[in-house]
Amino acid sequence: MLFRLKQRLTKPPIPLDIGGVRVKPSSRARRFSLRVDAKAGDVVFTWPLKSRVSLERAQRFVETHRGWIEDQRRKSADAIPFAPGATLHIAGAPCVIEHAPGRGLTRLEEGRIVVHGQPEHLPRRVKDFLKNEAMRALKRLSDEKASTLGLPPAPVRILDPKTRWGSCGPDGKLMYSWRLLLAPPEVMDYVVAHEVAHRVHLNHSRRFWALCAGLTADAAASRRWLRQNGRRLLAYG
Ligand SMILES: [Zn+2]
Repeated sequence: MLFRLKQRLTKPPIPLDIGGVRVKPSSRARRFSLRVDAKAGDVVFTWPLKSRVSLERAQRFVETHRGWIEDQRRKSADAIPFAPGATLHIAGAPCVIEHAPGRGLTRLEEGRIVVHGQPEHLPRRVKDFLKNEAMRALKRLSDEKASTLGLPPAPVRILDPKTRWGSCGPDGKLMYSWRLLLAPPEVMDYVVAHEVAHRVHLNHSRRFWALCAGLTADAAASRRWLRQNGRRLLAYG
């Protein structure tokens, strides 16, 4: 009885967080550690259940690594990884990434992006899938808007530029960012209207803006959305 009481006294209660860092008890861990929980986008403190540890030592450990913790938090606030359980908005519709066993094509299924294969290949597979979907959607929209203007279809390329959402070459060839697929559909529609209008006016003249406005619902609102949210689109994957 005395022995049991002594044991209870020497094992401190496990706190929920230490200095603002979430604590995760682990029966396998033998010492303190800090790791990044990519899905939660935060740092987690591992509390070893097997070893005898004190709260003061744990607090000191967290404070010693404060700089690293804040660095990781800043980084994960910037990046939104493709991981199982994460939700993406594809053309405005929420889709949860789901890992499935065995082989199979990545596909959309009732609000889920189903991804087969090795878990470590999942981020790349999601990205490839989004690029393909982006190509389909952007090519179709570009052809539709070109035909409205009486123009033939133009070649479309899908890239990942960091400073622009699309471009139109002097030869009329179009380029778009695959990340537009993760924007609201009206924003994607505006970018296509913008680039297709450049096939007629290769400048930002008043006539260009008038033509662009006639090809999409609300160019001003979409431009505002991109100014305010564009950085977030760049954070995916
Ligand atoms: Zn332009």
